[in-house]
Amino acid sequence: MTQPRPLVAGNWKMNGEQASWKEAESLAGLLAAETAVRAEVMLCPPATLITSFGHQLEGSKLMVGGQDCHGELSGAHTGDISAEMLADAGASAVIVGHSERRTDHGETSEAVRIKAEAAHRAGLVAIICVGETETERKQGDTLNVICEQLSGSLPQNAKAGNTVIAYEPVWAIGTGLTPTLDDVGEVHRHIRAELTGKLGEDEASGMRILYGGSVKPDNAADLMAVADVNGALVGGASLKADDFWGIVSVYSEK
Ligand code: PEP
Repeated sequence: MTQPRPLVAGNWKMNGEQASWKEAESLAGLLAAETAVRAEVMLCPPATLITSFGHQLEGSKLMVGGQDCHGELSGAHTGDISAEMLADAGASAVIVGHSERRTDHGETSEAVRIKAEAAHRAGLVAIICVGETETERKQGDTLNVICEQLSGSLPQNAKAGNTVIAYEPVWAIGTGLTPTLDDVGEVHRHIRAELTGKLGEDEASGMRILYGGSVKPDNAADLMAVADVNGALVGGASLKADDFWGIVSVYSEK
């Protein structure tokens, strides 16, 4: 079966100012010069940078995504941004349900599903994050938690072309810790099976399942070689073009 085209997406979180453009520019330059990279590459900067990155990267292979969106099209939601606004600013995707949003803003899986549906409505790819906490893993609940989050967060009519799943164990985010390769493989296999049950074989086999959580240039090749891992969602190591490139180039066909 043909494998989906990998995606390597960088989540800058609450980091980056106008001057950070130089990192995006270097990355876009590396991507333009390197024709052998078979992955799609995306940066998700803070909302304040999406418009300028969107304009500056027009025509480049480097894509821009948002880190969150509201479920509504517009209205009285101070401080929020709709999926349509992200699309208007030049984004082609949006991360929804990142564990930091689930924790900091109490987002439920239902809220995440509404955001993913909003992303689809606006023509954006929804990158839906799921992942267990350290306690849940220690209690042996990982697969149940993933299954519950996926069931609650995945829109019923999600398609391989408009949805990406990111498996991000909460305890691995920003800690330098990663699950064993067997554990990553087990969760990704489980997610693929769940997707098959919900969406059918065709959509499920084409849907990208990213691994995220302390992906660095020195562990990326091993993590990306695990079956059913179709790319990475990268936090800290996406802030510097050289580090991020060390991860992206795992997908260089040279
Ligand atoms: C993330 O926040 O999505 C993430 C994976 O962070 P880090 O790579 O820094 O662990």
